[in-house]
Amino acid sequence: MLQKVLIANRGEIALRITRACKTLGIKTVGIYSDADKDLMHLRFVDEAVCIGPGASSESYLNIPAIITAAEITGADAIHPGYGFLAENAEFAEIVENSGFIFIGPRPEHIRLMGNKVSAITAMRKAGVPTVPGSAHAVTTQNALAEAKEIGFPLIVKAASGGGGRGMRIVERVDTLLESVQAAQRDAEMWFGDDTVYMERFLQKPRHVEVQILADGNGHAIHLYDRDCSLQRRHQKVLEEAPAPGLPEQARADILEACVNACKLMQYRGAGTFEFLFEDDEFFFIEMNTRVQVEHPVTEMITGIDIIEQQLLIAGGLGLNIQQEQVECRGHAMECRINAEDPTTFMPSPGKIEHYYAPGGAGIRVDSHIYEGYSIPPYYDSMIAKVIAHGKDRKTCIARMKQALEEMILTGIKTNIPLHKDLILNDEKFCAQAMDIHYLEKHLLKKIEGHKEAS
Ligand code: ADP
Repeated sequence: MLQKVLIANRGEIALRITRACKTLGIKTVGIYSDADKDLMHLRFVDEAVCIGPGASSESYLNIPAIITAAEITGADAIHPGYGFLAENAEFAEIVENSGFIFIGPRPEHIRLMGNKVSAITAMRKAGVPTVPGSAHAVTTQNALAEAKEIGFPLIVKAASGGGGRGMRIVERVDTLLESVQAAQRDAEMWFGDDTVYMERFLQKPRHVEVQILADGNGHAIHLYDRDCSLQRRHQKVLEEAPAPGLPEQARADILEACVNACKLMQYRGAGTFEFLFEDDEFFFIEMNTRVQVEHPVTEMITGIDIIEQQLLIAGGLGLNIQQEQVECRGHAMECRINAEDPTTFMPSPGKIEHYYAPGGAGIRVDSHIYEGYSIPPYYDSMIAKVIAHGKDRKTCIARMKQALEEMILTGIKTNIPLHKDLILNDEKFCAQAMDIHYLEKHLLKKIEGHKEAS
């Protein structure tokens, strides 16, 4: 069993990991930047180490400082959370080579999934359905032949891409070559790797993903699926589990395919297979080799503590859950609460004056904020996750609406009105899951003066 875990993250996920460690009797080390000394989890950890200035590049992304903090505190393992270094294979390697346990997959699997071309190739071999497309590097030499195979519209994507950056949709053959060149330039600029590939552009897909857990020795289970189609600029805004309205056979097949892929790879830890879902078909787009922001909705429907499982697996205690023991009960939804202007989406850091977190049956709030806390300007604007669970989607939505009605958060601007007034009041969304363009193309257009929704 792990003895002492260094939490290489901040905010709500650092608090979430601290709680899971303490529940298991594991000692904790918190790290923080100069701008973060007031973080909530630092009150609960056994030790805390300042690792650098506010800018992430000098603190939460500063590998030597993090490794040094682990050494001086005698930690035996490092949990990367999500974001920052969570999907950095080099970091995982350095952690292991420095004699610590990396709470996550083997570096080789992080690397395999970090490159989309190698990820797609591996998934095809494992029998996971992918988007029709190249699955190898495309250049101006082979682009035309590839495009003829795929058809139009198609999308050119960076192999090392992330965060929705550098993707180009190509409608017609006459703009193909310039799009490939532009995508290569973007890919080089953003990711330092100009490799691009192409795949069919799906017109109105939903984003459906599968949560898995695996022990690294061939035992793997799924914890069902989530729908994360409500997105703005490829960033998820609201997530729910299970994904509503999936045909049962297609759902059973995709869950099984993901589990089999994990068994085949001997994958270790928690992971998520992301798919686009269109016309009752699943198409793999990428795998996240870490815990995700939206993991609580899965915890609510299965009753399984995903972070606890990560800690047990990393500690060598294996995965003591069989697939038959995983039940899917009721429906759960998560609203991401961001410190931002609800109409312009400009970040709104600053001091929280009043805060009241909602509660009651089926409500969970994962957040590190408190009255008097100042949100620093350096990091992601997500400050809380409100999670609702109910016997069905309708109950879940009703509970979420009541929770957001109760929530008090003043001193800064937040996107609570976006959830409360726009999304959860929308008849179409309340009736069924919508596609990935619905939020931007329909709901955001209702905001007066909102220019980006086109
Ligand atoms: P990133 O890692 O940059 O987030 P993804 O491959 O996960 O890139 O794609 C991000 C988003 O871009 C998807 O959620 C979807 O909205 C859109 N997208 C990606 N590939 C396609 C495709 N083939 N067809 C339609 N939309 C796509």
